Amino acid sequence: MPDWNDRELKAGTMVRGALWLVQVVGEGNTFTKEQLREAFPRISQVDRRVRDLRDFGWVILTSSEDASLAAEDQRFIEAGVPVWDPAARQANAPQKTISAKEKRSVFARDEYMCTVCGIAGGESYVEDPNRTAVLSVTRRTTVLPDGREEVLLVAECKRCRAGSDGSPARADEVLADIKELDDGDRRRLLRWMERGRRGTTALERAWNAYRRLPGEARGEVRSALGE
Ligand SMILES: [Zn+2]
Repeated sequence: MPDWNDRELKAGTMVRGALWLVQVVGEGNTFTKEQLREAFPRISQVDRRVRDLRDFGWVILTSSEDASLAAEDQRFIEAGVPVWDPAARQANAPQKTISAKEKRSVFARDEYMCTVCGIAGGESYVEDPNRTAVLSVTRRTTVLPDGREEVLLVAECKRCRAGSDGSPARADEVLADIKELDDGDRRRLLRWMERGRRGTTALERAWNAYRRLPGEARGEVRSALGE
């Protein structure tokens, strides 16, 4: 079991909250919202994320369910699914059937392509031309930018689904990486997001044009730049 306070731990708030309950509070003991906020400063709605654990069989009672508790207290009765184990969490995620209508709208939104490898439905794999991609709609545990974890629907090919280790998609890390970009790159990325496809940059256009030059001309460009 990872340490709840391990800064290197790649986990969302619900998982950290579960570890905190087990390691700091302990089964049978009480805790307050205030203690939870102190343990997880700067994270909004941490109490909600901890309540999400109930979907995984964790028993946490509030004063409205247990009259012996003071209004601000909650009691951690019992741990459920070990949510810090991605495979266990995926296997026990609350399931409901995906309707045909939901599937159609997920396929359309994901442009009939696998969201993991990008292959289109019916297209053959480059490394394995005899096999064609079969797309299906699957559930993917996803850590959202505010640390909330949700199981979201994605279009995925059969091969990627079989090869998945159940680790969550990390919107929080994607956002953090984007925030590290300089202003110019960030504006460019926003334009690509609006258009739904990547554009070329002046740098790439210059590189491609340079590479298409005859060898001697490339040499002259380089020496002109060296001066
Ligand atoms: Zn795929």
